[in-house]
Amino acid sequence: MNVLVINCGSSSLKYQLINSDSEEVLAKGLCERIGIDGRLVYQKEGCEKEITESPMPTHKEAIQMVLDALVNEKTGAVKTLAEIDAVGHRVVHGGEKFASSIVLTEDVLKQIEECNDLAPLHNPANLIGNRACQDLMPNVPMVGVFDTAFHQTMPRKAFLYGLPYEYYEKYKVRRYGFHGTSHSFVSKRTAEFLGLDYNKSKIIVAHLGNGASISAVLDGKCVDTSMGLTPLEGLVMGTRSGDIDPAIMEFIAKKENLDIEGVMNVLNKKSGVEGLSGVSSDFRDLEAAYHEGNERAIAACEVFAYRVAKYIGSYVAAMNGVDAIAFTAGIGENTSFIREKILSYFGYLGITMDAEANKKRGEDCIISTPDSKVTVCVIPTNEELAICRETVALVK
Ligand code: ADP
Repeated sequence: MNVLVINCGSSSLKYQLINSDSEEVLAKGLCERIGIDGRLVYQKEGCEKEITESPMPTHKEAIQMVLDALVNEKTGAVKTLAEIDAVGHRVVHGGEKFASSIVLTEDVLKQIEECNDLAPLHNPANLIGNRACQDLMPNVPMVGVFDTAFHQTMPRKAFLYGLPYEYYEKYKVRRYGFHGTSHSFVSKRTAEFLGLDYNKSKIIVAHLGNGASISAVLDGKCVDTSMGLTPLEGLVMGTRSGDIDPAIMEFIAKKENLDIEGVMNVLNKKSGVEGLSGVSSDFRDLEAAYHEGNERAIAACEVFAYRVAKYIGSYVAAMNGVDAIAFTAGIGENTSFIREKILSYFGYLGITMDAEANKKRGEDCIISTPDSKVTVCVIPTNEELAICRETVALVK
């Protein structure tokens, strides 16, 4: 089967066409500046990137351009649209309604819409993408794969906040967690790679990208994760603050004369390692500044690694032990010096790092020594492939 995987944001859209039998990416790219002017990036497997500037007033024109590129006579990945058998859509928030992926019907789309106030920036954009695809490919089955679904197995003690219970009852204010597709894919792959029984294992996944989150996966089920009602909670991220004393919000609002939107903007876009370092949100820049002795960059890296280590420690407690720790996403897969800093906190667990193996990047590998009490590995994530697999499982 050929599955078109679509990740639709408010003004951009990423896509991949994947052959689900070989799991090969036939073509991939993105549409940017939808509703502004419009730019399509298209790359057929083994070919150079093509960039086309063309108006995309709405997502419908953007998706039409993607479909045209996929069947283009010269550079298309397939001959006709009939060769696209299914579409898998990333959906950010499924609330408590969706604990697994689902075939998208009109009724399901309505239920997703009901989750919009939980993810006001992302869900409406995801829905616009779904509907545009359905208009353009009315007979092709579509599947929604939720960022939150994998975390729906969390027990009440992990998902409830210490707030008036009625906020949970009335508004569904609780921990949901995100990056679920990645946490699911990486935890399964970790068990497979290390020869563990997934259903009898304790795995901690550290998804460290620009957005970053950690999950505790006990016997194949997520029992806790660091992101919350929104992706702002938990780790210190590229530009997000992660956990802070909530009273800081009032304090800063008064000092800086900001309203609630202004404070939220600071916490989401001006904080994290970028706000701390004043250098960048990108760990490649931070690593360079760190080695040049830039004190704020050093502080940012230390804060980042320490927060990750504290979460890992708390999840060892939550699961009463751990068999494996897996690093994934941009920083987790590539940034050796951060992994080393994080692992330096775990002498008490009997973890010893293999310095040579830790230099590797971008491939499944073990970075702990053979006598380490806990195995630590790097497992590259592949959310598009995970969405493709989920889609095939539901439409086959
Ligand atoms: P997101 O998907 O949340 O945007 P990514 O998983 O792409 O994030 O991760 C982005 C982060 O990963 C950036 O901080 C970047 O510096 C880091 N990163 C990506 N590739 C590399 C690399 N080759 N070396 C070092 N850091 C990298």
